[in-house]
Amino acid sequence: MILYDKEFYEKGINLKYRAYRHFFKTFGLFGYLLFQITQAQIRIQRVDSCNIAAVGDIMVHDSQIASAWNENKKIYDFTPSFQYVKHQLSRADLTIGNLETTTPGQKKAYSGYPLFGAPDALIEALKYAGFDLLSTANNHACDKGRQGLIRTLNVLDTHKIAHCGTYRNKKEYEDNRILVLDCQHIRLAFLNYTYGTNGLRIPSGVVVNLIDSVQIAQDMSLARAKQPDVICVLLHAGAEYRSTPDDFQKKWIHLLLDEGADIVLGTHPHVVQPFLLERRRDKYGRIKPRLVIYSLGNFISNQKRPHTDCGIIFSFTIKKYTTDLDRTHITMEHIHYSPLMVYEAKTSSHHAHYLLPVHDFIQNQSSLNLPFSVHRKLLKISAYYKNHLKSSSEQIKKFVQSQKFGRSSTAVF
Ligand SMILES: [Zn+2]
Repeated sequence: MILYDKEFYEKGINLKYRAYRHFFKTFGLFGYLLFQITQAQIRIQRVDSCNIAAVGDIMVHDSQIASAWNENKKIYDFTPSFQYVKHQLSRADLTIGNLETTTPGQKKAYSGYPLFGAPDALIEALKYAGFDLLSTANNHACDKGRQGLIRTLNVLDTHKIAHCGTYRNKKEYEDNRILVLDCQHIRLAFLNYTYGTNGLRIPSGVVVNLIDSVQIAQDMSLARAKQPDVICVLLHAGAEYRSTPDDFQKKWIHLLLDEGADIVLGTHPHVVQPFLLERRRDKYGRIKPRLVIYSLGNFISNQKRPHTDCGIIFSFTIKKYTTDLDRTHITMEHIHYSPLMVYEAKTSSHHAHYLLPVHDFIQNQSSLNLPFSVHRKLLKISAYYKNHLKSSSEQIKKFVQSQKFGRSSTAVF
């Protein structure tokens, strides 16, 4: 495979020029001829590829806690909620979400809005659904105090789900403030920040990452020192229920990209906001493709406002091309979204919240017997996203087509 990307081509020219100078200085005219003979086109030796699925706010309201109770077994069981999305989430190399609740442990501490606390069974179900990484720095991190925050991390550790954004103590924060994960030989550094904690004081001893320009600059520098292929920031910010980003989000995302973030995944507004992929220079002078989604919307909740009950799975593939010059080049390919809908099935004998992949259920690929009104709603959601994310989809397609490299990968919507 021959590399034709413009930026990389320019890099290649530069390298070739330096090599030519070296040959000419060392061997004179013979060196020049030798260079002409030996100068080969940059060839790709290896391609690594990591597919990521990202979803938004994982919320558990009172009615979800009630519907997860299994009276026969006398246990909480959230797995039915995720049974229809499990295949999509599990097939990604890395699945990411925002855990917007805590696991306080005691049954009397279980509650929905405004102070969220869910049974541990939620985390077990998220593991079952395929989650690998959850962000915990959000406005509900302190809902159950110091013990709630600590215990949530304990439960995540028990189920081997990676986490970032909150820390049990200063030492843990110092040691783990940059989370580095290896995904199919691609090194990813993760950072997570929240705009605040709903006015709740951050309990003494624990750490919640707040959006702060000094800390972000420090973290970015520490992250860069770990030499990741990609830096991904999980940003919890923005006005709720707005379908477009506000000035606060734009300002901080701008800063994050300047600081060297390659990917920003936004959460908190509870509805989906646009995404974009653009080539952009950071303050270190590196020009790279940067992928931003302003808000992933809700993953699961019992919210009923428009579009809060239908989020998306946002998926993309990070590719790392290693050349015979031992240089690496990162691209974002196969950018795709899949709308979801929370279906609250409620009869006198049965109450459940199911996450439905909209397109699967429109095509009737399930035995779940959906009422006609639900089918109509699925069609409406599909049409809504087609329109709402039209500009984003077109921008991505244009970007992918404009790059001479990685163009073969089509964006599918
Ligand atoms: Zn939030």
